[in-house]
Amino acid sequence: MDTLIKTIAKNGAFRAYVVDATETVRAAQEAHQTLASSTVALGRTLIANLMLAANQKGDSKITLKVIGDSSFGHIISVANTQGQVKGYIQNAGVDIKKTATGEVLVGPFMGNGFFIVITDYGMGNPYTSTTPLISGEIGEDFAYYLTESEQTPSAVGLNVLLDEHDRVKVAGGFMLQVLPGAKEADIARFEKRIQEMPAISSLLQSEDHIEALLTAIYGDDAYSRLSEEPIAFHCDCSRERFLNALASLPNQDLQEMADQDKGAEIVCQFCQKEYRFTDHDLEELINEKS
Ligand SMILES: [Zn+2]
Repeated sequence: MDTLIKTIAKNGAFRAYVVDATETVRAAQEAHQTLASSTVALGRTLIANLMLAANQKGDSKITLKVIGDSSFGHIISVANTQGQVKGYIQNAGVDIKKTATGEVLVGPFMGNGFFIVITDYGMGNPYTSTTPLISGEIGEDFAYYLTESEQTPSAVGLNVLLDEHDRVKVAGGFMLQVLPGAKEADIARFEKRIQEMPAISSLLQSEDHIEALLTAIYGDDAYSRLSEEPIAFHCDCSRERFLNALASLPNQDLQEMADQDKGAEIVCQFCQKEYRFTDHDLEELINEKS
């Protein structure tokens, strides 16, 4: 099962979240049948979203929109504080690799755009915060968002590695944040360690990638594990929810669907699940409304 592990340096200078999201991104790939670049872009967005949600207390919902103006179109994901995430990418069919190395490309096909975070505490007035995309690689854009928007110096590494059939092999990453009590010397030591850190893709390929990430982050610094929480790709859509959505349409439209289309078919954009409503269902809905 996928997990998100929260850790803190013993001296209180830093904290880090380390995530294994392999099954989560695999489930997203299966739901949306994404090709290589789209899988990696969507997967990175889901991982960033899970980290943002883990940063919240209570029962809140975080929407992350990575909106570029190039091939991918919009990437939209929603995570809650129970470790569940759902999401989709507008163009699931982007598949571009470097000829020489086979490396899956993401940034060049994101284009210019925005990293938008909407925090909903469930009490109305969701809070929106936006920063520009700086590379389109999502990890860097996320770190920039945390540093600029939340005023917390942060380092982020996240990635999705694919096997020879472009299926998800491993997905995960880390988010490291400086805490208010950090001293100059602490910051300098961690900055150096981050700079010298092996590439996130090679850390993720380690046999125990959670341990590899923690070692790369903390080195010889003592740290404690605060918690380990399950995470998963999970969509909260239901027949009832879509029926409520249909109920908000004018009766005339519902009648047209019943007469001409003999019903309605709705596909959840977050998980691709199909819901069918017969002409009988629609007529019942019209009768209930009037
Ligand atoms: Zn759904």
